[in-house]
Amino acid sequence: MNMMKPTVSAGRSTIIACANVHARYGRITVVSDVTLDVAAGEMIAILGANGAGKSSLLGAIAGTVAGSGRIEVNGQAINSLPSHKRAVMGLSLVPEQRRNVFAAMSVKENIDLGLRLLPIAEREDQRDFIMGLFPILRERQSAGAGMLSGGEQQMLAISLALGRKPDVMIFDEPTQGLAPAVFDTLQHAFDVLKKRGLAMILAEQNVPFAARVADRYMILSQGSVVREGPGLDLANPEDIAAVFLGSK
Ligand code: ATP
Repeated sequence: MNMMKPTVSAGRSTIIACANVHARYGRITVVSDVTLDVAAGEMIAILGANGAGKSSLLGAIAGTVAGSGRIEVNGQAINSLPSHKRAVMGLSLVPEQRRNVFAAMSVKENIDLGLRLLPIAEREDQRDFIMGLFPILRERQSAGAGMLSGGEQQMLAISLALGRKPDVMIFDEPTQGLAPAVFDTLQHAFDVLKKRGLAMILAEQNVPFAARVADRYMILSQGSVVREGPGLDLANPEDIAAVFLGSK
């Protein structure tokens, strides 16, 4: 929802730039020294085994986990802001397990809750955009969110996060527990959001799905980056070993 003020480097418009990010719980540091940036229309996948630090890294970027490092969105430093102010600066997190869906409210009420911080004049267009992205939510708009399937709840969680027209979206394992039938819908949604110029960060354990949707990847092991690059090669045993074993 901010005016776009991207930093242009090497012909790409960087929307989010993170430098030397650490994440910690109390005195225990679980993510160390991660540097990444994501351009408009681009998605980076953060891969790694259970406990590698993916969620903690996303939390440090979104401000829900304690951390340090410099984080800029549209050229403005956001790292000293609390999470709700980072959201106002254009950064939206879709947490693990659809935790931000309000089960007792209808689908439409959930979507309207996501839109509440948008100027009133922009809400209808954004609601149409969201329901166009996920037509099943338009069909089911008066259903209780708690009655939706897991895939529909994931769509609703993404819709909530889209409400304030973010410039950056962060997804924490969106395919977790979902039937493969939903993957095509998510892939289509990511393609549309890329065309809109959003910068996206995706944490995933589902490597084949990440390889389908992401433009670049970064592999974490024990909180550190062990490998990064433009495309994951599922036929390359070294790439796969890096994801699951943390080998360099
Ligand atoms: P998963 O795919 O299982 O979610 P992950 O790659 O997202 O794993 P994190 O959940 O970020 O990994 O965990 C990184 C490390 O931080 C692990 O050692 C984990 O035990 C620890 N950790 C996670 N949450 C907390 C917490 N609330 N308090 C203390 N330690 C935590």
